[in-house]
Amino acid sequence: MQVIKTDLVIIGAGPGGLSAALYAKRAGLDFEIVDKNMAGGQIINTDSIENYPGFKENISGYELARNLVEHCRKFDISVLDYFAIDSIGKTGKTEDGKSFGFKCEGDERLIRTNAIIIATGASPDRLNVEGEDEFIGRGISFCGTCDGILYRDKEVAVVGGGDTAIEEAIFLAKFAKKVYVVHRRNELRAAQILKDRAFNNKKIEFLWCCMIEKFLGKDKLERILLRNKNEDKTYEMEIDGVFEYIGWKPNSGLVKDLVKLDKRGSIITNFKMESSMPGIFAIGDVRNTPLRQVVTAVADGAIAAVYTDRYLYSLEHEESKG
Ligand code: NAP
Repeated sequence: MQVIKTDLVIIGAGPGGLSAALYAKRAGLDFEIVDKNMAGGQIINTDSIENYPGFKENISGYELARNLVEHCRKFDISVLDYFAIDSIGKTGKTEDGKSFGFKCEGDERLIRTNAIIIATGASPDRLNVEGEDEFIGRGISFCGTCDGILYRDKEVAVVGGGDTAIEEAIFLAKFAKKVYVVHRRNELRAAQILKDRAFNNKKIEFLWCCMIEKFLGKDKLERILLRNKNEDKTYEMEIDGVFEYIGWKPNSGLVKDLVKLDKRGSIITNFKMESSMPGIFAIGDVRNTPLRQVVTAVADGAIAAVYTDRYLYSLEHEESKG
């Protein structure tokens, strides 16, 4: 087992984690940034980002992610990617007498560190209805950017009424013959600019107050069973693909026994991005953020790195006094 000793581990190399890495580097910290997947985070799968300040022409999520990674490389920061941390624990002194607050273990590596920034983001929620498990990857998808092209001239449904659902419905309408937006209420949660675009798109049709109750088909998805809540009626509808965008769950499992979480499972932080456990910080979609955006994740990353630096400084000075 390889043992790495460092001041700080940043877990997750999305926009928040990469921004934290840039600021940690500028503060002169010794740190590792790791990601269980390719560096870049959720935005890799976003077709176009049009609200990241300074990019007045649309930039694809993939391109923005690449820019962030290359910006880090310019400052000699390399992401330890495809490395999954399986557990985080508190530790005391090591055999050489130096104390480390935490140990992170996974894939034949042990990282001893005094501070951690959790930047693990969030994962898509699922409908959890009959047939869903069976047809994921065979008609059910969570990523229009990845799978949209497979539905050229076909009929698809998007579930949800938030920004993601409406953005993806507009994207899918570029390929699909028809896009049904299945929403459980009669009003969208999405931003006005997205609503206007969707309402003006002739390929998009809204199925208000409807829920999918069952996914049906043989080898691949063929039909959905819909319930119209207003009429209290169910009916089957033929469909080639369904894209679910009904929200996100914070990926906070690694620290669920170490820090306080809110009832959704988000890590509770203060304005310094500190969790309830000294030395553990959280940023972006995994924390109880009031706004889930690239711009807020990036800002969180900068704040967390600055306060981690202060935390490590005070730890070192307390240790030397003690
Ligand atoms: P969201 O805002 O939480 O919306 C989830 C949608 O799914 C809601 O319309 C909700 O219905 C519906 N829903 C939830 N559970 C459901 C269920 N079990 N069955 C059927 N429908 C269900 O999630 P999001 O759209 O992924 O957005 C997440 C965050 O990212 C938001 O803060 C959003 O503003 C941000 N975001 C921003 C952009 C952008 O600025 N361009 C793009 C994407 C995301 P109700 O409305 O009835 O609750």
